[in-house]
Amino acid sequence: MDPANKLVAIIMVRRLFLIFKPKLCKNCAKLRDISPVEKAFFEARSIQCPEKVYCAAGCSKCDDTGIRGRTGIYEVWNLDYEDHQLILAGADEEKIRTKLIKSGHINLLDDAIAKVKLGIISADEVMRTGLSLPWKNE
Ligand SMILES: [Zn+2]
Repeated sequence: MDPANKLVAIIMVRRLFLIFKPKLCKNCAKLRDISPVEKAFFEARSIQCPEKVYCAAGCSKCDDTGIRGRTGIYEVWNLDYEDHQLILAGADEEKIRTKLIKSGHINLLDDAIAKVKLGIISADEVMRTGLSLPWKNE
């Protein structure tokens, strides 16, 4: 491994990944059946698919947009000794991500799906963001 990369790996102790998304208006958000496209999105990622998801049609409180404010989708990676060893050994992202999934790490997609289930953001927004992992949670 390049000595400069080793320095970066040693310095990294915590990484934060953040994406801001429109927040559904609580005043007009309603549950609806999940669409076939959304269902396919969840299933392709081995995510337990909810039967219903929130959407917001718009009201006077959100100027008929269905959106009120923004929220973040977060991933915080607290690097441990094993993570550092993987980086120093030149492991690729897939290997590191696989290790993180096994250790219960909450990634961007996990946080986004949790916020969809709570009605904070729409399933459409998650799909529009293109959040995906090339490997599956197993
Ligand atoms: Zn509204």
